[in-house]
Amino acid sequence: MLSLPTSQPNGVSHFRVGDLVVSAINDGIFEVTLDVMVNIDRSEAEKLQASAFRRMPPRITINAFLINDGKSLTLIDSGCGTIGGPAAGAVGRRLSALGVTASAITRVLVTHMHIDHVSGLVDGEGKPLFPGAEIVVHENEAKFWLGEMPSGASPALRDAFAIAQRGIGPYREQLRRVTGGEVAPGITLLPAPGHTPGHSAYAVQSAGESLLIWGDIVHMPGVQFANPAAGMAFDIDPAQAQATRRRIFDMAASERARVAGMHLDFPTFGHVARAGAGYAFVPEVWYPDV
Ligand SMILES: [Zn+2]
Repeated sequence: MLSLPTSQPNGVSHFRVGDLVVSAINDGIFEVTLDVMVNIDRSEAEKLQASAFRRMPPRITINAFLINDGKSLTLIDSGCGTIGGPAAGAVGRRLSALGVTASAITRVLVTHMHIDHVSGLVDGEGKPLFPGAEIVVHENEAKFWLGEMPSGASPALRDAFAIAQRGIGPYREQLRRVTGGEVAPGITLLPAPGHTPGHSAYAVQSAGESLLIWGDIVHMPGVQFANPAAGMAFDIDPAQAQATRRRIFDMAASERARVAGMHLDFPTFGHVARAGAGYAFVPEVWYPDV
């Protein structure tokens, strides 16, 4: 069995899942306003932010994950790279601080093709940083973002297309387009559409333990656990995103699943509990490796 690394560089947190070591890697943050939220009154969102002791204006935490099974290294998402502003894009240097070179990464599993998930796959000139890795993405995600832009696309959607193609385009030849199932040893892709057409969660299982890395089911933990109806302005299908969030919250609460997410507060590992008409996030307790 792998032992947990004995040091955690700044912005990295290691957790054991069975025989695997899963490391949350913080990419940084986005500074936003509540204008990014839809399907919730501003006053209610403000109230929830305040009662969850959140900053105003809000910040959105950005994470990626590294999974070490002793034989291969799997990266899930890659952060913002060079185009997410000064407070984001730290995944590359945090991997270096861990002693992980890009060539050591066997595969990258992509939850979806937004800026904060695929832009870290390329350098400032758009050249691939992981030329030897297999890139796994849901078929519907590749079809949408690498296909033709919908007619009448907003400027924001046009930008999103350009960003998706910048991050994934150089990998067309090594892209593995899947619709579900096991994509790496012990790692299963679970479709979670709505935020984007092929948005996917990854279920990690090892030696009787599990972890659901759920991508962008939540962006604003202070608001969306309490009120799962609240969505984001950049959800491609807001109604489907809400239905998926409710389905996954319900499943996680019923199964007492351990979850992690790209926009949960670092180090992100925890559980979903029912609370009143909504839910609450309960952080996982960290113990030393004994
Ligand atoms: Zn995101």
